[in-house]
Amino acid sequence: MPELPEVEVVRRGLDQWVVGRTVATVTVFHERSVRRHVPGPVHFADLLAGRTITGACRRGKYLWLPLDSGDALLGHLGMSGQLLVESGEAPDEKHLRVRLTFADGDPELRFVDQRTFGGLAVEADAAGLPPSIAHIARDPLDPEFDDDAFVAGLRRRRTGVKRALLDQTLISGVGNIYADEALWRTPLHFARATDTLTRPLATKLLGHVRDVMNAALAQGGTSFDALYVNVNGQSGYFDRALHAYGQEGEPCARCGTPIRRDPFMNRSSYTCPRCQPRPRRGRW
Ligand SMILES: [Zn+2]
Repeated sequence: MPELPEVEVVRRGLDQWVVGRTVATVTVFHERSVRRHVPGPVHFADLLAGRTITGACRRGKYLWLPLDSGDALLGHLGMSGQLLVESGEAPDEKHLRVRLTFADGDPELRFVDQRTFGGLAVEADAAGLPPSIAHIARDPLDPEFDDDAFVAGLRRRRTGVKRALLDQTLISGVGNIYADEALWRTPLHFARATDTLTRPLATKLLGHVRDVMNAALAQGGTSFDALYVNVNGQSGYFDRALHAYGQEGEPCARCGTPIRRDPFMNRSSYTCPRCQPRPRRGRW
């Protein structure tokens, strides 16, 4: 699943390749990919055609392209979504769901999504922040993210620290991979109760969350070529830098103890049992 750094790479690509351009035609190949646009695919296309894209924005894993109408094209990549900027002459992808062409010709914008958990919608009065995502907190790469408010909010919670990191109303964009990596670096067990975290420890954790994301962003930002705005949940260019996530049985880079996998919220958590011992008073 694409995490925040990958989505930011896509945003940068969109910023470079579609901002300032006017939409010519919109073709929806699969209605499920615009299901969040309740009035349907024809209405979706009508609101886009003839409109100029004025920006490329992101909040957590949501992307939106403000339009000169005051509406915005809002998108989420889901599990497998890709936004591709390509020549119209390139063969259609097998899982092509939506195509936008532009008044100035090539390249076009394609939404490709094998599993169709992602989707696009046009939202009204959304040039600033689309109302449907206003509840989502800023992410730690956002220049306006408030570190002190996050630390205070985290310590007020009554939950486990990893659950808090995955709570999009507290901090956005932290998925399973970056949560496990930041907890390993700190180090903290995923079930550590947030109300037992000291302010310095919570601040240290936030620093590691940000470091992990910046490291992934730096790698993602150099791995795509100019005309290919790509998110691929299977790509894993960050895999070489992972210390915990997916490393079950591998030696901990700090102490050599085999990394352990535990079930967590229908997924998994990876920890070093020596560096990140399970807390006695921990809550899930
Ligand atoms: Zn260790």
